[in-house]
Amino acid sequence: MAAPSVCSSCGSGRAALRRPKTGRGLCRGCFVAAFEAEVHETIVSARLFRPGETVAIGASGGKDSTVLAHLLRLLNERHGYGLRLLLLSVDEGIAGYRDDSLAAVRRHRGRLGLPLHVVSYRELYGWSMDRIARHVGPRNNCTFCGVFRRQALDRGAAWLGADKIATGHNADDVAETVLMNFLRGDVGRLRRCAEILTGSEGALPRCKPLKHAYEKEIVLYAYFQGLDYFSTECVYAPNAYRGHARTLLKDLEAIRSSTVADLVHSGERLAVREDVRKPTQGTCQRCGYLSSQSLCKACVLLEGLNRGLPRLAIGKPSHLQKALLSGETPEDNLQGQEDPGKASQCLRTIDF
Ligand code: SF4
Ligand code: ZN
Repeated sequence: MAAPSVCSSCGSGRAALRRPKTGRGLCRGCFVAAFEAEVHETIVSARLFRPGETVAIGASGGKDSTVLAHLLRLLNERHGYGLRLLLLSVDEGIAGYRDDSLAAVRRHRGRLGLPLHVVSYRELYGWSMDRIARHVGPRNNCTFCGVFRRQALDRGAAWLGADKIATGHNADDVAETVLMNFLRGDVGRLRRCAEILTGSEGALPRCKPLKHAYEKEIVLYAYFQGLDYFSTECVYAPNAYRGHARTLLKDLEAIRSSTVADLVHSGERLAVREDVRKPTQGTCQRCGYLSSQSLCKACVLLEGLNRGLPRLAIGKPSHLQKALLSGETPEDNLQGQEDPGKASQCLRTIDF
C-alpha cells in the first residue's frame, strides 16, 4: 500500500507511511506521537500501574520488549506515573541466540539508564535450554522453555521486590495465543490470554501495555526512534506450534486486515460458563510456586529431565506422571513410552 503524499494528521508534513492499524497516511512525527499517545491511553484506561510501584520489564532484547522499555521510561517521565522501572532478563542458555540478544539488552540498558538483572535457567534449574534440547530432541522444547521462563520471571521479579511484571506482548501475540488456545481447546488459558492485567490469584501481577499495538507498527516505531534490537529467531522456534498459528494468522490477515484486532476482541469477549470447573490454586509442595497440582509444572518437567525421562513429563498428567510425582519408579513400565535403555543411559550421563 503506497503512502499518500501529505500527512492526514498535521496536513503539512510528508506522509512517511500508511498506518497498518488505521490505514491513515502519517508523517514520521505524527506517527510517533500517535503511537505513544495510544500506549499511554491503554495504560491509563486499563489502570495498569499505581504510583510508587516497582515494575520489572521483561527484557529479551527483541523489538517488543525494547520498545516497551523505551516507552515506559518515556511515558513514566512525561506523564508522572511515579514508577520505579527495572529491566529483568531471562537467560535460557541458547547459544547463538540468547547470548547475542542479552548483549542487545545490555546496550539498551546503558541508553535507558535502568538497572538490569539477569536470571538464568542454569542457576535456577541446573539445566540450560541447549542441554534440555539435546535430551528432549527437536520437538517440545518450547514446552519446557515456556514453563521455566514464566517461573524465572516471577522469581527474578520477586527477588527484585517488584510489584508487577510488564511484558512486551503485542496485539499479534495475543491474537496468536487466542488462536492456539482455540485450536487446543484450552478453556482455562483462553479465559486469561487476552486479559491485559493478570495475576489476581496470588501470582505477581503481569501486564501487557502493548496489547493493542500491531507488530508492524512496533517495528516502525523502533525504526523511527533508532532503537537497537536483536531480531534473529530462536534456533528451536521452527518446531514451535506457535509458528503454525502465526502462519495461519498471516494468511487470514491477507484476506481481512482487521483479523488481529478481531481475534483480540474475540478473546476479550469470551465468557466461560460459571459451571465450568476451574482449577483450585495452591502451592507446589517442592518449590512453593503457585500450582493447582501437588507439584508445579516446572517441578514435574525437572523431575522428568533429572530422571532421564523428559517426555513423560510433557502434556496432561498421565498415570506415569503421577508415578513420577508420587516418588514411584515408573521406569519398569516404560515399554512403548520411552526407551528404558536410553533412559538409563541418559541417567548415567547426567551430571548432578
Ligand atoms: Fe524458548 Fe521456544 Fe522461545 Fe526458543 S522459541 S526461546 S525454545 S519458547
Ligand atoms: Zn514447583
